[in-house]
Amino acid sequence: MEILTLEALRDNYIYILIDTFHKTAVVVDPSESAPVLEALHKRNLSLTAILNTHHHHDHVGGNNILLEMFPSAKVFGGKNEGRIPSQHVFLAENDCFTVCESQCRILDIPGHTRGHIAYYFEKEGWLFSGDTIFGGTCGAIFEGTPEQMFESLKKIAQLPPNTSIWCSHEYTEMFMPEAAKLDAHNSKILERTHRVKQLRNTGTPTVPLLLQEELDTNPFLRFSNPEFASQYNSNPGLDTFLKVIQASG
Ligand SMILES: [Zn+2]
Repeated sequence: MEILTLEALRDNYIYILIDTFHKTAVVVDPSESAPVLEALHKRNLSLTAILNTHHHHDHVGGNNILLEMFPSAKVFGGKNEGRIPSQHVFLAENDCFTVCESQCRILDIPGHTRGHIAYYFEKEGWLFSGDTIFGGTCGAIFEGTPEQMFESLKKIAQLPPNTSIWCSHEYTEMFMPEAAKLDAHNSKILERTHRVKQLRNTGTPTVPLLLQEELDTNPFLRFSNPEFASQYNSNPGLDTFLKVIQASG
């Protein structure tokens, strides 16, 4: 299976997973249909499924037009999310299914929205995580509680450190200065800031993120590090996470 990264809207990413043998494709969070249709057409691929992480318009905006063009495609989303246009399949924690001949398992990760899910490909080490984690930051907590977001991020933090995280927005460069403020003594953040600047200067995406790098430099994933927690005079875990959320305003 091959992954194609498409830039869409202002700073969204749409991912197309391609089964090169069968000439079929699956799309993750199509914010708009045009770039997806163009990419499919160029490679002569037919769309079999749309995987939505949550209901926000910049993740599902392309659903209906894509379904008009590929009426047999199925729309997947979380069972607690609702509001996903034309949803056919309602998924819960640990549900497994096959995508382009690879096994995918669902992580239920509420917080940004109430039914936000991630699509995890254990064998490939890929996580499609929508708006829950970004380079150096986490998603805004719109519908859930900080406690829910903490549990969701903890679930992600416990995946193998070499997991590639395909998040839905290019936010890394924008949030590095805030990460540096929230974790002032972390020299890895400064190194990363420099690297990210170089990548963005040439228009190169910073995705996929590497989980190990987030564990090292993303203040919202550093809650279990005792040294980091001590900067906040708190115990590692939820206590620290809540203080980081508070400090980030
Ligand atoms: Zn969102």
